[in-house]
Amino acid sequence: MNTRDAIALTRTIAPDLRFVPVYLFRSSQAFPRALTPFGALGYTGPFLDVTCRTWLGSSWRGRGAAIFVNDVAIDEYCSDIGMDPRQKFLGTFLHEVAHVLSREMQLSPVTDFQAEMMVTLTERWVASPICVRQAPWIGHDAAWLRILLHLLYRANQELNERIPLSLAVPNGNYELNTYGFAIDIGDEPERLSHLSLAEIQSVSPPEPYRERWLRETRQWFDHLPDHELSDLETLACAKRLFPVSQKGGSKVVTDLLEKIRRKLKDNAAKAESRFAKLAGQIADGTEPPLATVSETLADSGKTVDDLSQKVSDIRRRRGLQAAMERSKELEQERSQIAAKVAKANQDLEAAERRHNDVTWPLQIRIDELNAAIAEANNARQQLLVSCNDAELLAQLDEVSRESEKCVASQARARGEIERFKEELDGPRGLRSHLKYERNAVTEDDVRRVEGFLRDAEQQLATLQSEAAELKAKRQRIEGLMIDA
Ligand SMILES: [Zn+2]
Repeated sequence: MNTRDAIALTRTIAPDLRFVPVYLFRSSQAFPRALTPFGALGYTGPFLDVTCRTWLGSSWRGRGAAIFVNDVAIDEYCSDIGMDPRQKFLGTFLHEVAHVLSREMQLSPVTDFQAEMMVTLTERWVASPICVRQAPWIGHDAAWLRILLHLLYRANQELNERIPLSLAVPNGNYELNTYGFAIDIGDEPERLSHLSLAEIQSVSPPEPYRERWLRETRQWFDHLPDHELSDLETLACAKRLFPVSQKGGSKVVTDLLEKIRRKLKDNAAKAESRFAKLAGQIADGTEPPLATVSETLADSGKTVDDLSQKVSDIRRRRGLQAAMERSKELEQERSQIAAKVAKANQDLEAAERRHNDVTWPLQIRIDELNAAIAEANNARQQLLVSCNDAELLAQLDEVSRESEKCVASQARARGEIERFKEELDGPRGLRSHLKYERNAVTEDDVRRVEGFLRDAEQQLATLQSEAAELKAKRQRIEGLMIDA
């Protein structure tokens, strides 16, 4: 069978491979010898496509499933025993396809460096296969076998021929009764032929198939010497059972998955809550046991950085809460003070009312008195103006004239006094010249001006007493005029 037909067949019988590149390498097509293991008719690996990227050159179409089949060795083997090499090729190819489908496909991109690493690792594996002591069915367990049985059924239907199971599973190699499994799987390949291989793996196989797997692996362990039982690799392999029981059909499966999902969600919520509590303790300054911290971080899937961030968030919130609390106290104090101010304002208003009560009648009385006094002055003025005693009027005129003269003389005397004081004590005065002995000012000059000043002051005093006499005289005349 040519490469194109083989790949087309896989796409038909395995919908899982319909949209990913499938590479089939054959030893007859100048496949690198360094990547061809001795004694194996075929092999595959999650990174075999990457390993062969450089070799593929322009035929590389991105990440996908890759399978190597040593068709040269198959031809030699078949010609030795007189077997049809085409069927042996198909059996080997489907054996590897079952490997591809029985594990999660790796399709994420890799760097050139990673690709080089894969070449080196594969070449090393080819040169000296690593022999880990493990159960014989590892890599070829009941889950893989189930997929192979489905692929063979579908290939048989598609090609309308029967590819014997023995051509895909070397008899006795894996210490499992593969024919027993082929019988126990019953009509499942036909019944589920509309599903993808991934969908088939999400439900349990028929109960007899599952029981055979448990029975045969247990038997293998029962015959194992005690000292080999501790081999972890072996134990891990034996624990690979089927996910759920077939009993109850897909409803049971769905319910079970839903239950698991709820449980996981619940656990995640609890872990999150423990994480928050732990951060709260640290924020309070309590040092939790290291074991608690690492356990809580592991359960909640958080890092130490997450914890640190959470603690600082909590501390920030506590700070805000404290600020909020403080504002309550401040508001309380403010309302207390405001009450005091309101009380003082009330007191002031009361005092003002009392003040008004007292002063208002007094002010009225003052206004009355002002009016009465103004009236009295007005009466006196009227009496003076209306007096027509000629002698008294002449006397009043005389006093008035003398008073005016006296006022003018006083003004003159005051002017002179100012001038003499200035001449003596002003900034350019005689005493300052005398003090600094400038401009030949003498004690006599000073004394002379002092004499003038004394005379002027004497004259002003005389004028002032004269003015007082004139005032008294005027009052006397006015008294006579009022009484006239
Ligand atoms: Zn294999």
